[in-house]
Amino acid sequence: MPDGNGKDGAIRAIDAFRGARESSVPTTRLEEVRKRSRKFREQMLSGKKALFYKTCELVRVPYPTRYAFANVYTQRPVSSPVIHITNRLFVIQFQAITGIKTLLFSPSDVLANADTRYFKRLGAQKLAKLPPGMLKTAAQKLVAPQGPTVVEWLAKIGLRPEEVDYLSYDHLHTQDVRNWLGGDGRAPVFPNAKLLIMRAEWESAQGLLPPQSDWYCPNGTRGIDPKRVILLDDDVMLGEGVALVRTPGHTMGNHSLVAHTDDGLLVTSENGVSLDNYAPQVSRIHAVRSYAKKLALEVILNGNTQESSVEQYISMVMEKEIAGPSIRSPELPNIVPSSEFTPWWLFRGISASAFTPTRVIGDLEFGSLQRR
Ligand SMILES: [Zn+2]
Repeated sequence: MPDGNGKDGAIRAIDAFRGARESSVPTTRLEEVRKRSRKFREQMLSGKKALFYKTCELVRVPYPTRYAFANVYTQRPVSSPVIHITNRLFVIQFQAITGIKTLLFSPSDVLANADTRYFKRLGAQKLAKLPPGMLKTAAQKLVAPQGPTVVEWLAKIGLRPEEVDYLSYDHLHTQDVRNWLGGDGRAPVFPNAKLLIMRAEWESAQGLLPPQSDWYCPNGTRGIDPKRVILLDDDVMLGEGVALVRTPGHTMGNHSLVAHTDDGLLVTSENGVSLDNYAPQVSRIHAVRSYAKKLALEVILNGNTQESSVEQYISMVMEKEIAGPSIRSPELPNIVPSSEFTPWWLFRGISASAFTPTRVIGDLEFGSLQRR
């Protein structure tokens, strides 16, 4: 069996949210989670910061607008059926009692992930519409345009693959981790890295129902040495200034990254794909704003599978409360979606028609890279 919590000196289970979702009354669960989130925020802000935090753009992927803003477009026409989301890698370093540790959050293996059924179907339809110069690689055929790979980004930053201690994903949709960790007889790209994942997500990926398996890369976790996987049963602090907190709903094993930076607490997951999901009532997208106001919604889900939409709603409020207001735009929360709605030149005409995110986060970097 893979390791559980606490067998690694850098990982400490926390009880900030334990039992917060026990009530069968949704409003009680929501308010309890909100209260605990505010307290947790204060605790984290009183602690130390992560040593290094950098986002790196990997690839832009076409994504249905109806998923990006769940239910908004079920009763009205959508001006753009597809948006682009930018998938990001997060390179994070933190101090632990066992030394300085390096975490890669959301390191998508873009080429390998292209095997995901959803991408395959999408690729077949979109391929013909792309300019020939863009069809350089299999991945680009599906999702163009593609930026540097995870390994190329690390080389740019100045990190060697063997310096990576941990990999983590908010959930495993589209992810193939076999090249990274060495599954199915492959040599691992990251020879010392362990995967940090909630037990619920890991176990769920071993027996998916059809609505789920459209989004999970087939065999993406096959043959991984259990010693390379740390199954988490709790919310955890990673050394100082970094936490992984359970945010079920989008998938039931979903978790979010919380990082203490010079910009405050930055919270990351794919529960929403833009700040418009988290602050829909001040969104510049008219349909999103009016739908949120009509229904008095605090958040709008990114809903491609919605394993539990009520829990996802609560989880997004939780993320928003932990993050607090953005320093630069206080009307928006300090959220950094791992896949973010980004205008793209191909959709310039649509961008000009008000279907554009209220604010794009773009690239972020805080602290300084620590070398061993
Ligand atoms: Zn997902």
